[in-house]
Amino acid sequence: MFIESAYSLREYNSFGFDVIAAFFARAGSEEDLREALTWCQDNQQPLFALGGGSNTVFVGPPSGLVLQIGIKGIEHERQDDGSVLLRVGAGEDWHSLVAHCLEQGWHGLENLALIPGAVGSAPIQNIGAYGVELSDVFVQLEAIDRQDGSAVTLDSDACAFGYRDSAFKQHWKDRFLISRVWLKLHTTPTLKINYPALRSALQDRSDVTPKDVFDAVVSVRKARIPDPAEIGNTGSFFTNPIVTTTQAEALLCDYPDMPHWPQDDATQKLSAGWLIEACGWKGHRNGAVGVHENQALVLLNLGDASGHDILALAEQIADSVESRFNLRLTIEPTVLKS
Ligand SMILES: Cc1cc2nc3c(=O)[nH]c(=O)nc-3n(C[C@H](O)[C@H](O)[C@H](O)COP(=O)(O)OP(=O)(O)OC[C@H]3O[C@@H](n4cnc5c(N)ncnc54)[C@H](O)[C@@H]3O)c2cc1C
Repeated sequence: MFIESAYSLREYNSFGFDVIAAFFARAGSEEDLREALTWCQDNQQPLFALGGGSNTVFVGPPSGLVLQIGIKGIEHERQDDGSVLLRVGAGEDWHSLVAHCLEQGWHGLENLALIPGAVGSAPIQNIGAYGVELSDVFVQLEAIDRQDGSAVTLDSDACAFGYRDSAFKQHWKDRFLISRVWLKLHTTPTLKINYPALRSALQDRSDVTPKDVFDAVVSVRKARIPDPAEIGNTGSFFTNPIVTTTQAEALLCDYPDMPHWPQDDATQKLSAGWLIEACGWKGHRNGAVGVHENQALVLLNLGDASGHDILALAEQIADSVESRFNLRLTIEPTVLKS
């Protein structure tokens, strides 16, 4: 594995920040992951695991080794119950995997089409969209333990998936390098089309196929979310707040139109986008940073913004939401400071 120094990450983060990594390498195998760990230990350097950089905000040049995990391979095995077990390399592109599975007639990923990034990053925040989350199809993952280089297999319970959350954002933050992800898909589709935007894109048809769902998700996303290749962003910058029913009811007294979704555990999910929009941020522009005009959750690099600029805007937005609604928004992407 070749370790480069002073390497530009402009192509490796969806905000397009031109930050320079002290060291950069690509890992194509589990052996490379171990070699990188040894190198970091020998040279007393920190290691940052990178997939596609679509959920990472580099605030200043990262120190140590940025290791892009590019392990490839899609293996599959048909099960007696008609399902298909997939073992996918962490470096496979997520959307390409979704399209490949659709072509093969393996179903369950259609609603997750067009989410940027690598397969190995999907468990970190339990990616989700249009009523489906990774955890719905997840079986287990293989990883290398950063503490001793050992290979481990972690099942769904161990990963502790939640809404945009997992053990890898909590007690196991920076503990594992994920090398492969196992998924269980179905040859007989069960379509999930209740999400309002999806239902309306499908015009409430009854003869919907998995390909229709895939196409509808792609077209809804293209209409709503800016393409990072054209304008730098990380998708939703904040997660939707989860509050107690008492908190939600108190807010609903003052804001009866506020969207809210009861959860299984007697909490309520609110719309971060609605809260931000209500504070007047939608379409806001200031120098090189802005808020998308169709989706208030998406912060934009309009030119030569830096991670500091984006974080400063995020702070302003979170402050104004807090002073009006008395709740603090949580930033979704990983923020990596120098
Ligand atoms: C336009 C746009 C739309 C988006 N829409 C959605 C959406 O609908 N739903 C959603 O959930 N997300 C969405 N996202 C966020 C993002 O696409 C996902 O979080 C995706 O899984 C990130 O993948 P990545 O490879 O780019 O992650 P990166 O930014 O490279 O990494 C993200 C985090 O995972 C860690 N990591 C990456 N790979 C590994 C590994 N192999 N082992 C251990 N740790 C690792 C990194 O250290 C970092 O902390 C969107 C982003 C954009 C830009």
